[in-house]
This record gives sequence, structure tokens and C-alpha cells, in this order.
Amino acid sequence: MTGRNIIERCESIGLRMTGQRRVIARVLDAAQDHPDVEELYRRASDIDAHISLATVYRTVKLLEEASILDKLEFGDGRARYEDAEREHHDHLIDITTGQVIEFVDEDIEALQRRVAEKLGYDLRGHRLELFGVPLKTPGKDTT
Ligand SMILES: [Zn+2]
Repeated sequence: MTGRNIIERCESIGLRMTGQRRVIARVLDAAQDHPDVEELYRRASDIDAHISLATVYRTVKLLEEASILDKLEFGDGRARYEDAEREHHDHLIDITTGQVIEFVDEDIEALQRRVAEKLGYDLRGHRLELFGVPLKTPGKDTT
């Protein structure tokens, strides 16, 4: 995790942090995965049963608009979220299970910088999503 937590970043830009927003921010801080709103709602409800799905939706939207959260779209129509200040990484999505695997590949990072430079740009960011199915491995043959 990087420097300041989500609550601190919200407060530093003047967002009013109600008790329920704090619970949602804590759930987001604790998430090591890429939860969608329904999953965030489940986790927040475990802490405070009075939180509504609508509150989670509104809070997540607010945090996304404030660039505190990144919204991720993995092609199944469900937006997922992660802390925008997490260390840079890309995602591989297993389309058979929906599992999301994080990776960093220095060759890809360098290639993207070269492409941007060739086009006359200094690269400041990118987003890469790979979609795949598991390779068949010996002993796990399904044919
Ligand atoms: Zn990620």
C-alpha cells in the first residue's frame, strides 16, 4: 500500500466523510482484489448493516470522480474498482472463471513507451487488459 489511505485522501480534498463513507473507504483500503459495487456492499454490510447499496454506489462514484478510485471494465458489464494509488500493474482476466490476475511485464512497459515516443509522445500512463483461457497442462487434460 502507498502513503495515505483513502479516508485521508478524501479529507485532504474536502470530501465530507460520514460514518458510512468511512466504512466503505475502509473496505476499499482493505481490498486486495477488484470488487464490484455489489461485493463492496456485501463487505460494508458486514461492518455496518445499515449501509444501503445506493450509498455504496454513490460513494464509489464520488471517489471515482475524485480520482481516488480507478474504475475497471473487464468486458462483462460489471464495473470493478481499485485504489488509484496502487502500484502500476496490468490485468489478465480468465474468461472461464472471471478471475483477475495482476502482472507487470517490463518488456510491455518498454514497448509502450517506445510506441508513444514514435508517435511523438512522452507516455504518462496506460491501461492493458488481457483476456484468456487457461492453457491445458499435462495431467489436467480435458480432451
Ligand atoms: Zn489490479
